[in-house]
Amino acid sequence: MSDALIRTSALLSSLSWLEHAFLPAGMAPPAESAFGRQRHTASIITAEEAFPPKIREADGVIANGSRPVAVYTADCLPVLIADTRRHQVAAVHAGLQGALAGVLPQAVARLIRGGATPESLYVAIGPAIAPCCYELGDEALNNILTNPLATAPRYFSSQPRNVRAVRPQAQAARRGVWFDLPELGRQMLLDMQIPAAQIEILPVCTYCCAEPRSSYRRNTHTSEGYDLRYAWIRRRNSEVRSP
Ligand SMILES: [Zn+2]
Repeated sequence: MSDALIRTSALLSSLSWLEHAFLPAGMAPPAESAFGRQRHTASIITAEEAFPPKIREADGVIANGSRPVAVYTADCLPVLIADTRRHQVAAVHAGLQGALAGVLPQAVARLIRGGATPESLYVAIGPAIAPCCYELGDEALNNILTNPLATAPRYFSSQPRNVRAVRPQAQAARRGVWFDLPELGRQMLLDMQIPAAQIEILPVCTYCCAEPRSSYRRNTHTSEGYDLRYAWIRRRNSEVRSP
C-alpha cells in the first residue's frame, strides 16, 4: 500500500520528540504497538497493560516510555494526544458511545495525574465520519442532548455538502439530523481546558473522503467491505525525559 495514504497531524508533527501516524484502512500498526480490546467504554490503561495487544479491554492507552500506543477505528474518532510537559502520549478510540461515556475526559484526567497540565496537551483527531455523512435518528440525538458531557453538540437539519468528497456522500435514510462527531470530541477537549490552538481535526470524512474500505457505515449501505484503520503515536527512542 502506498505511503501517500498515511496521514499525519501538522500540530503533532511540530513536536520533535514524538512520531505518529493515521494509517489507511487495512495497514498494520508498528509490530510492537500496545492497544486494548476496544469496547466503546471510558476505560484507559497503560502501554504495559495493553501489551500484547488486546489482552485487556480498553478504549485508550497511555505510554510514558517509547512503546507505540494505538487504536483501531472505522468511523469513530481516533484521537492522539501528546503531553509536552512529561512527554506522555495517548491513543484514544472515541465513537459516539465512547465519547458519551467520557473516554476523552478520562484520558485527559489520567494524563494530568501523570504530570500533564491542560496547557501542555496537544491533540489530533484523525479521519472519522463527518456531518456530511453521519445521519442520526431521534433516539441517538436525544441520548446526546441529555448527556451532561455534550455541552455544545453541533448538528444540521439538512445534509451538509462536503467539497472534499471523492465519492458520493451518504444518502439520507431516516429524515434525521447530520451530527458532527469530530466537533463533539473537540468540545469535550475544550471543556477540559485544552487550548483551542492545540487541537487539530483532520478534515477527512471516512465515508466520502478517505480511501475505499474506510467506513463501517458506508459498508452497511454498499456492502463493499471495510478494513480497520490504525492510528498510533510514540515517544522517540532517543528521547530522554527531562527531569
Ligand atoms: Zn462525508
